[in-house]
Amino acid sequence: MEDGRDLVVACIALGANLGDAAVSVLAAMDALARLPGTTVTHRSGLYQSAPVEASGPDFINAVAEISTHLSAPDLLAQLQALEYEAGRERPYANAPRTLDLDLLLYGDAAINSPSLTVPHPRMAQRAFVLLPLAEIAPQRVSAAQLEAVRYQFIVRL
Ligand code: ADP
Ligand code: MG
Repeated sequence: MEDGRDLVVACIALGANLGDAAVSVLAAMDALARLPGTTVTHRSGLYQSAPVEASGPDFINAVAEISTHLSAPDLLAQLQALEYEAGRERPYANAPRTLDLDLLLYGDAAINSPSLTVPHPRMAQRAFVLLPLAEIAPQRVSAAQLEAVRYQFIVRL
């Protein structure tokens, strides 16, 4: 379903810490590939990280790079639909979640709307974003950024 819009390279952070989190993250990667006008161009490996400003079991994290004709708001809506299909509930901020899909980067766009901020405002503070992102798009992550999150617990599975 191409709408004539140019193809944009975007990066999506995937995370889950309820249920079979690894299965959820891998299934979400496949679901991204089925979004309209979208192909998945790179998939990071799976990482395990301790919750940051959150409670519950360890997270499984990954980052995917996609190439999409969707606009940024349409892409966010599609990501939220996938979260909902995975059983996502939001009882309180930073609650454990069956699936979290965050839009990290949308081309070179800077977006500041009430429902969408891109680049994702907290990505630079999070090892669970920077390490998988560096794996698939090393030019997007600096050595200084990696150094700054070196103390955070994370392992590549
Ligand atoms: P978080 O991922 O911060 O733990 P949620 O997944 O519940 O929290 O998202 C809360 C809100 O963040 C969403 O309703 C969405 O509108 C907003 N949001 C703003 N910028 C982004 C972004 N880049 N990616 C995903 N959601 C975003
Ligand atoms: Mg989110």
